[in-house]
Amino acid sequence: MIEVNQRGYYGEFGGAFIPEMLHPNIEELRKCYIEVSESAEFQAEFRKLLKDYVGRPSPLYYAKRLSAHYNTNIYLKREDLNHTGAHKINNTIGQILMAQRLGKKRIIAETGAGQHGVATATVCALMGIECIVYMGSVDIERQAPNVSRMKMLGAEVRPATSGSQTLKDATNEAIRDWINNPEDTHYIIGSVVGPHPYPDMVARFQSVISEEMLWQLKEQTGNEDPDIIVACVGGGSNAAGAYYHYLNKKDVRLVAVEAAGLGIHSGESAATSVLGTKGIIHGSRTLLMQTDDGQIIEPYSISAGLDYPGIGPMHAHLIDTGRAEAVSITDEEAVKSAFFLARIEGIIPALETAHAFSALDKIDYSKDDVIVVNLSGRGDKDLGTYVKYF
Ligand SMILES: *Cc1c(COP(=O)(O)O)cnc(C)c1O
Repeated sequence: MIEVNQRGYYGEFGGAFIPEMLHPNIEELRKCYIEVSESAEFQAEFRKLLKDYVGRPSPLYYAKRLSAHYNTNIYLKREDLNHTGAHKINNTIGQILMAQRLGKKRIIAETGAGQHGVATATVCALMGIECIVYMGSVDIERQAPNVSRMKMLGAEVRPATSGSQTLKDATNEAIRDWINNPEDTHYIIGSVVGPHPYPDMVARFQSVISEEMLWQLKEQTGNEDPDIIVACVGGGSNAAGAYYHYLNKKDVRLVAVEAAGLGIHSGESAATSVLGTKGIIHGSRTLLMQTDDGQIIEPYSISAGLDYPGIGPMHAHLIDTGRAEAVSITDEEAVKSAFFLARIEGIIPALETAHAFSALDKIDYSKDDVIVVNLSGRGDKDLGTYVKYF
């Protein structure tokens, strides 16, 4: 069984390695997250918002021309059609409802590319709750459109000016804030990373993706199980959601696609499953890119959402045990796939998602297979990058 245990471990990965002063917050969440999120009242509100606000169920689309090209059967799970353009909103809706039930009056988050910041600012506006998003100063420069979105949605964007002024520095600032405001503040983490119970809580909120796949595949193919599920992995939340209800179905192959940047061994990469070693990052024991003395290596990918030096503990476990196959895709391969998908199906994918499509060139399959690619997000935010390749 692939399931998190009481202490938050998937095999040897996970746990909660946190400063003593955060213990009360994490304990409060750990004690109640399952009971609260499974209550009928929570589920009713969560489901209603997913339907009427996010626009779920997201379609499962049979990509006819893409299937003909690859000589197999490819279905796209259209998370790109969600409100705000990606899967991240599934999680932030769940967490804002959780925060309300814990009596929290203030939300903090950290963001690198700004996508999680936007999804968080969105649900805070929806609920009328104060929102502070920490972001590295360098990222604020690089991701100006998302900074504007967050501000328009009423969030305060606070720059993290220490260290490399990127995601990990923003994370440090957010943790510092939480330590100083334990009573009234909830910290919304954006992927299946961080100390237990975050990875499991976020996976549960995202599991709506595979929950829908079960009945959508049954309806369209007569079988609720596909042969292969392909998803890109930054921290791993869209993949966790797409795999969730298939984790214990051994016949369903799980493919995790990482960013190889300029090449796995180029020094400019985010291919954690190949380059990562066991260690602790953001409060959990997992695979991460680190130097021999444990300093985090700055990751690189053309896609801001895959530019993360670790992977969530669930994925570390899935890859380490061979349950999931890891594939690495370079910037160039991903961009090529994005253009190909745009022209063969009329869908412009996010740069992150383009990596998942590129994996179709690397994995083996047969012509009768049913493959689901989780189309995690739309590419509007990446046009500035795509136009450089015109
Ligand atoms: C943030 C993001 C990702 C990466 O995050 P995961 O937690 O690994 O899913 C992937 N795709 C899109 C469109 C994103 O915005």
